[in-house]
Amino acid sequence: MTQIPLNPPSAIPTIQTLTPTIKPTATDDVFDPTVDPVIPENVATYVPRKIPRSLQLFNLLGVILPALAVVAAAIATWQLGFGWLYLTMFFVMYAITGLGITVGYHRLFTHKSFSTSRAGTWFWAVAGSMAGEGQLLEWCAWHRKHHSHSDGEDDPHSPHHHPDDGELPQTFAGFVKGFYHAHMGWFIRNSEEEPNYARYVPDLMKDPLLVAVANQWRFWVLTGLIAPAVIGGVVTNSWTGALLGFLWGGAVRLFWVHHVTWSVNSVCHIWGAKEFVSHDESRNNPVMGILALGEGWHNTHHAFPTSARHGLRWWQFDLSYVVIKSLSYVGLTWDVKVPSKERQLAKSTKKAA
Ligand SMILES: [Zn+2]
Ligand SMILES: [Zn+2]
Repeated sequence: MTQIPLNPPSAIPTIQTLTPTIKPTATDDVFDPTVDPVIPENVATYVPRKIPRSLQLFNLLGVILPALAVVAAAIATWQLGFGWLYLTMFFVMYAITGLGITVGYHRLFTHKSFSTSRAGTWFWAVAGSMAGEGQLLEWCAWHRKHHSHSDGEDDPHSPHHHPDDGELPQTFAGFVKGFYHAHMGWFIRNSEEEPNYARYVPDLMKDPLLVAVANQWRFWVLTGLIAPAVIGGVVTNSWTGALLGFLWGGAVRLFWVHHVTWSVNSVCHIWGAKEFVSHDESRNNPVMGILALGEGWHNTHHAFPTSARHGLRWWQFDLSYVVIKSLSYVGLTWDVKVPSKERQLAKSTKKAA
């Protein structure tokens, strides 16, 4: 009988194991998170792709229906398997872990759009880890690669480039395939693959605190699932309460945060307005702007990745920025970066047209 070899769990490279490979041969070998992309020479001639309406509708339904199903389940089970206690736990855990991704993993660690203390660094690293989207260094490396190659062939999750097809999708079926790939197919397919840590996150690898939290990420995911179960059990003094706490504060919340994050990758490169010139198909989508805690103003983000504020207009609600800015008033964040009016005007598509 042949024995199937078991793959060892992929270890996160430690500072020690990575040090020899951290030395790039040329300065442009390393991704610089502190610099915004330069406007291309042919800015005035840039034309975004025409996306079929049918695909946009499919895309919207694919994103909205699962979310509506959860809301329907919550309403249907009100006072039976759901109630104020579980609703509160769902929202508190969604806020902690969702903002852990948007404020922590994304705006603080990937793009360095603001600064915080060591305690703040630890908090945001842990909150992001509890979201269950993988360890911090890997998440940041994939996302920096996305910005480096946005909607190009080497973009890890573009709806416009499926690895099986060399050409841009033109048919409805091709677009659906691309949408699925950008939403979740990319990491299911490449679950064994690791990003190039030395190229994309050498700065983060130098921080022992971040490496330590990255190595503990499974523990923090479990904590995020067990904590609501314990609270539910203690408050109701029952095993049923513990199970429902786990379900709504843990499992359903985990699904919701995942689905919303993935939707930014799929929806916001397909549907919405191109307010600024960027080298890609990124769009500002109001639905995702609200649901994804401000991350849906994605075209603005691709034009100004170092900005802590993604919704630059007063009507573009950006909860993550509200949190970052509010914390700055009490000294918990500082150096909060936002592009000047001149820089915004220079990249405006209205000016370019
Ligand atoms: Zn993007
Ligand atoms: Zn980004």
